[in-house]
Amino acid sequence: MTQAIYLDYNATAPIRPEARDAVIAALSVTGNPSSIHGFGRAARRLVEDSRDAVAALVGLAPAQIIFTSGGTEANAMALRGSVTAGRRVLVSAIEHPSVLASAGGELIPALADGRIDLAALESMLAGDERPTLVSVMAANNETGVIQPVAEAAALARKHGALIHCDAVQAAGKIPLSFDALDVDMLSLSAHKIGGPSGIGALAVRDGVVVPALLRGGGQERSRRSGTENLPGIAGFGAAAIAARSKLGEYAALAGLRDALESRILEICPSATIFGRLAPRLANTSCIAMPGVPAETQLMGFDLAGIAVSAGSACSSGKVTASHVLSAMGVSDDEAGSAIRISLGWDSTPQHVDAFVAAWKAVFQRARATVAA
Ligand code: PLP
Repeated sequence: MTQAIYLDYNATAPIRPEARDAVIAALSVTGNPSSIHGFGRAARRLVEDSRDAVAALVGLAPAQIIFTSGGTEANAMALRGSVTAGRRVLVSAIEHPSVLASAGGELIPALADGRIDLAALESMLAGDERPTLVSVMAANNETGVIQPVAEAAALARKHGALIHCDAVQAAGKIPLSFDALDVDMLSLSAHKIGGPSGIGALAVRDGVVVPALLRGGGQERSRRSGTENLPGIAGFGAAAIAARSKLGEYAALAGLRDALESRILEICPSATIFGRLAPRLANTSCIAMPGVPAETQLMGFDLAGIAVSAGSACSSGKVTASHVLSAMGVSDDEAGSAIRISLGWDSTPQHVDAFVAAWKAVFQRARATVAA
């Protein structure tokens, strides 16, 4: 069925009209950006204009942006190079699977409030001066908890380590400055900010060497070969401009989100809202409905025409216990009853009303079943 109410922006956001227009226009641009002729130069201009827009979103110079096929590839580029170079890699336990799978490193633990444990990072760095890469995300995709990246970067610097930040969920939702975070590499993805999927970027500090994963034609200054994804890049650029100009509107989503959470707690005071005591993205809420498996809830919401997601299911629709909640010390049972609601620019108070009504119905039905 077509979903009437979409509350799954952290999985993928609806394409913004500006981005859709830019993608469609770029489909009619003939020419390879590497070609010298006029067609090629027009295509190149499109790529470079988008690079400017993406760089501006994180306060960078355009030359520091490498376009990739998405956040996953950006993370792989940032981490694989360090792994191959024999660097010690410390990644937080709450990272996206694309970081965890690329690193195979030591895990920086998380605190119960959803933030990484800086004291633990400090002691992991102290007394081991091997070349090291630290990777800490800007905001968590499941809980929305904003991570102390600048503080982690200061610790990394103190111990001579490099630092990478997966900013896929934070970009376009909170102001981000590469320099203020003081990181060496930062990953972005277009489909989380209203651009098309299959396009992202790795931003790299001048002087930091990132070995290419893809070699060949030498595109992206030999850092990522392959003919540029012109429609994707054009859509990414348009989405970056729109997202940057609407950061204030994004912050206002906290009003809707907080109202939603208060109403759930009125219905069920023992519901848990993860990360509520930490700074969070304005759009994200991760809620456990006591005793009701996330799969049961998702089916109930789907029948009510509401799209939300469970656990770390931003990939293949599978529902597994969330490694993020586990790292926060949440039991498997409770983690198994957590769903993620993520709002966005098209969300309305009516959507929140519908969600709360559906949540109440699912909860009461489950209770009635247990009691019967
Ligand atoms: N990093 C985080 C925090 C994410 O939430 C996601 C997407 O789910 C990714 C990386 C992967 O991005 P992409 O889907 O563009 O490969």
